[in-house]
Amino acid sequence: PVILAIESSCDDTSAAVVADGLVLSNVTAGQAVHEEFGGVVPEHASRAHQRNIVPTVAVALKRAAKTAAQIDAVAFTRGPGLIGSLMVGVSFAKGFALARGLPLIEVDHMQAHVLAHFAEDPKPAFPFLCLTVSGGHTQLVVVHSALEQEIIGRTIDDAAGEAFDKSGKLLGLPYPAGPEIDRRARLGQPTIEFAKPDPGELNFSFSGLKTSILYSLQKKIKEDPDFVKDNLNDICASIQHIIVSILLRKIQLAVAQTGLKQVALAGGVSANSGLRQGLQELGEKNGWEVFIPRIEYCTDNAAMIGVTATFKFAEGAFSGQDVAPAARF
Ligand code: ATP
Ligand code: FE
Repeated sequence: PVILAIESSCDDTSAAVVADGLVLSNVTAGQAVHEEFGGVVPEHASRAHQRNIVPTVAVALKRAAKTAAQIDAVAFTRGPGLIGSLMVGVSFAKGFALARGLPLIEVDHMQAHVLAHFAEDPKPAFPFLCLTVSGGHTQLVVVHSALEQEIIGRTIDDAAGEAFDKSGKLLGLPYPAGPEIDRRARLGQPTIEFAKPDPGELNFSFSGLKTSILYSLQKKIKEDPDFVKDNLNDICASIQHIIVSILLRKIQLAVAQTGLKQVALAGGVSANSGLRQGLQELGEKNGWEVFIPRIEYCTDNAAMIGVTATFKFAEGAFSGQDVAPAARF
């Protein structure tokens, strides 16, 4: 089937055309409006989606060389995400489907992050282990099949992406701070130690880490008011080092527990160079097969929604026109 897919769960408006699982186009409009507020403002996000959705879909169709008449089904992110943002994508998808008499396919955003691996080669074989690390989630998932995903570990408070963003905020870095911490970490050394909270088993905790970073910086600033300014790259390297080491340690535990040797990364934080390199090295050392998507497929994108919908289309899993967005699942 040729599927038009829409993703609007947070602050990126994305549209893709996926034909029999092959991504023909994947177009994303970001929203610069949030930078000056130090985070995503839901009301602004929702309005920007309204402005962006029609042109984004038009470009996605054009790049795929498809017309609306050639689309077989419309897929959309039902949740989780910001309700006002989801509402725009869901309403657009319903309108498009109603106008053309097409089936609707709702997609779980977190399932889709995992299935982004099927947007390109090489693809993992089922079952495999996936660490999903994004702005709102940190999950270790056993992917039994495309639509049977079992969460075996998760964060009990902040997500890994929040750990990057909130630490960056402490340092006065612009939102989202993850990419900037990554860039600076490559120029510095991880010279500062922070406490490493561990809630046990395969779970994560990052809010304690943020507090530990705050306290140790406050202590250093007392001794030297210019500490942050003079050591910014080393501080970023230290923050990245501890977050990455927490993530890699839990991956090792999960591999030991499940016996799975195919290990995948998903979500926006998998764009992090330290995490990508660290997992590659662990994989080489332990004989795992490691799967890391292209950065375009790590952050929010509609291609992953279309790929997930392709699996659902095959099972006849369609939604009615009464489907409503869900902020939480
Ligand atoms: P969710 O999928 O949980 O609803 P989201 O869709 O908002 O959340 P993503 O777009 O998948 O999240 O990821 C955004 C997060 O990824 C932000 O926290 C951002 O700082 C982080 N991030 C992006 N690039 C990097 C990088 N190179 N290093 C570290 N973090 C990064
Ligand atoms: Fe996401």
